[in-house]
Amino acid sequence: MDEGDLVVLALAVVTRDLSLAKKIMHFARDGVLEEGEMQEKLKLPSAELRQLLYRMQDSNLVIQLGTKEDESGNRLTYWRINGDVAESFLIRKIKDVLEMLRKRREEEFSGEYYVCAADPTHIRLSFDEVIAKMGESGSLVCPICGAMLEPVNKEKVLEDLDNMIKTLEKALEVLEGEAG
Ligand SMILES: [Zn+2]
Repeated sequence: MDEGDLVVLALAVVTRDLSLAKKIMHFARDGVLEEGEMQEKLKLPSAELRQLLYRMQDSNLVIQLGTKEDESGNRLTYWRINGDVAESFLIRKIKDVLEMLRKRREEEFSGEYYVCAADPTHIRLSFDEVIAKMGESGSLVCPICGAMLEPVNKEKVLEDLDNMIKTLEKALEVLEGEAG
């Protein structure tokens, strides 16, 4: 992966918007951004752009270079994209996500979960919670739509989690290999 791609990915992680990250890289000149110009080109309100820049700065992905006045007295603010840290930033982020997914996998593997049969996003209860609920009301239905609760298809969930974990592990290997 070349450095430009890594920077776009890192910015996309921070902004949660891949196309915005691509535009930022596209409009930067030699990695330098002028805030007012960016605001115009990205069609973002200045407060929103500021917030994004501060979030990137928190991860050291951009550095504020300073301000100067142009001929008409407008204040220009310059930022530089700090491409050097993109790779280590991504490695750190992937490790965080991997840790979360492995924890989730462990939880799914060792526990028994129940979801609404009509729409699993309605409710998700652990086995203990199901027992408690049955004790309370004697019935076992979704509080949102009234459908039955059914055990989660563990194999499917574990398979999805394993696939995500494998993909991220591969990405991590590539990145760490490049970082040498
Ligand atoms: Zn439901």
